[in-house]
Amino acid sequence: MNVERGIGGLRELLAARRSTSIGLVPTMGALHEGHLSLLHAARDECDTVVMSLFVNPAQFADESDLDRYPHDEERDFELARDAGVDVVFAPSADEMYPPGFQTWVEVTELGSMLEGVHRPGHFRGVATIVLKLFAIVRPTALYFGQKDAQQVEVIRRLIRDFALDVELRVLPTVRDADGLALSSRNARLSRSERERALVLPRALATGDPEAARTLLESSNGLVVDYVERVDFDPPVLAGAVRVGSTRLIDNIVLEGDST
Ligand code: AMP
Repeated sequence: MNVERGIGGLRELLAARRSTSIGLVPTMGALHEGHLSLLHAARDECDTVVMSLFVNPAQFADESDLDRYPHDEERDFELARDAGVDVVFAPSADEMYPPGFQTWVEVTELGSMLEGVHRPGHFRGVATIVLKLFAIVRPTALYFGQKDAQQVEVIRRLIRDFALDVELRVLPTVRDADGLALSSRNARLSRSERERALVLPRALATGDPEAARTLLESSNGLVVDYVERVDFDPPVLAGAVRVGSTRLIDNIVLEGDST
């Protein structure tokens, strides 16, 4: 497995693989089984698997959230190697946002609802970094998790609007045995906070926005940012709550495959 930190080096490394299928799995590291399911799918479906590992400052509205984001590069490299990743692209913030950087991509409507209300600028950061990664790696397939349903919708729109020549692959949400969707932020929950957080997947599992809201609002120690049925593709019941200083998002698919 190669680890590349520079755009030029990555391009050189991929030059010989241009005639093969290339799967790109964008991550912010702190890998868990949710990320691994994307890596395994990419490994199954593509000749070359590239994982990006970049904690993108532009998608954090809250600086303390960025500062507290978990980092363990060596562990991530180890897990990526075990998952059969060919190349990890782990650039610095300066490599991705060189001095003078000023070009931003905004998916206006989709990026300003739900999460966009609570995290202004978040999807502008996401869309910009994904387009930049796309331009650098030029993958044939992009892998994302259904866990971040609005992110998927934003990327789908970006692909359509800019006519990006890439297949979007979306993999189901991976959950712990107790139902909590895996997230790098779960590590911040104390035992009692985690207990309280479990109401989120339980509420969403009702499949009914009103019932879910009632359940969430009657739970102690939770702040509900939103719980809504959203007409994404596929439609989801999506929710976001704050437990102590940790913010959690989750969704369930309302039609078709239950993820
Ligand atoms: P992140 O490192 O949080 O930016 O996530 C990288 C990718 O992993 C995104 O496409 C996420 O949607 C996906 N992901 C995160 N958590 C899960 C999960 N529990 N199940 C499936 N995919 C996930």
